[in-house]
Amino acid sequence: MEPIIRLDNVSFAYKINEKTKVSVLKNISFSIFPGEYVAIIGHNGSGKSTLSKHLNGILTPDHGDVWVHGHNTREMKKKRDIRRAVGTVFQHPDNQIVATIVEEDVAFGLENIGVAREEMKKRVDEALNVVKMSEFRHRPPHHLSGGQKQRVAIAGVLAMQSDCIVFDEATSMLDSFGRKEVLQVMRKMNDIGMTIITVTHHMSEAAEADRIIVIEGGQIVMDGPPREIFKHKQELENLQLEVPSVSQMAEVIHSQLTNFSRDLIQEEEFIAEVEKLSKEEVV
Ligand code: ADP
Repeated sequence: MEPIIRLDNVSFAYKINEKTKVSVLKNISFSIFPGEYVAIIGHNGSGKSTLSKHLNGILTPDHGDVWVHGHNTREMKKKRDIRRAVGTVFQHPDNQIVATIVEEDVAFGLENIGVAREEMKKRVDEALNVVKMSEFRHRPPHHLSGGQKQRVAIAGVLAMQSDCIVFDEATSMLDSFGRKEVLQVMRKMNDIGMTIITVTHHMSEAAEADRIIVIEGGQIVMDGPPREIFKHKQELENLQLEVPSVSQMAEVIHSQLTNFSRDLIQEEEFIAEVEKLSKEEVV
C-alpha cells in the first residue's frame, strides 16, 4: 500500500538571524498509511508542532523530503493539492473561524476553490452532519463553545474531502467536555476511513490512537501501538512523559487485587474492568 505521507531523512532548523539557527528536526523518517490513526507525542519543545507543520507543506525541510501522495511538498504547483489532501485543525478554535455564520465558515474553503453551489451545499450538509453541528448551521460561530468551534473547523476540513486530518494540539484549549466531543469526532472519522494524525501531550488522547510516535529532541525514539509504548513507563518518564492516568490507577489496583488487569490504557477499558470486578464480588 502506498503511504499518504512519507518523510525521508527530514531535518529542519529555524533561522533566528544570519548567524543563528535552532536545529529542531533531525533526520526523521516515517510513513503514514491510509486509514491509520496516529498520535505524535513528546514533551514541550521536542519538535511536535514543527513536525506537524511539515506534514502538508506549511514548513518544508532543509534536508530530506516530505511526500504527500507521491508529491514533494516543495513542489509549488502542488501546494494546493497537498493542503487539500492533508488538512490541519489548529490549537486555537477562535483563530480558525473566518465567517459570521457556521455554514458559511464550513463553505469558506470550497468557495476559494470554486466548487459549484449545489455541490457546496451537499458537502457542507454532510460535513456538519458528521460533526453533529447541523442544528447550529445558522448560528454565529462566536457564540459556540470551544469544542463546538473545533467541530466547525473539522467540518471545514471534511468539506474539502481531505484524506487526512492533522490535529495540532487541537484539544489543548478545550475543557474536558469539549475534548471528549472532539475525540469522539476523531474516532468517528477514522471509522469511516479517514487518516487521523493527532499531535498531543495528553496521554489519554494518545491512548485512543492505533499507533504512537514518540519524539524527543527532534528525533523519533519510539514508534508502535499504544499498549506497547505504555509498557515502557520508565523510559517515558525519562522523556518527561507519563503513562495515561488510567494505567497508573490500574497498576495500583492490580497490586492489591491481582485479578484486576494492569494492562489498561483507555477509560472505557478501565470502567469495564471495574464493572467486571463488581460482578465477581456479587457472585
Ligand atoms: P513542541 O510542539 O513539541 O512543543 P515545537 O516544534 O513547537 O515543539 O518547538 C521545538 C523547538 O523549536 C523549541 O525549542 C522552540 O522554542 C523552537 N521554535 C518553535 N517555533 C519557533 C520559531 N518560529 N522560531 C524559532 N524557534 C522556534
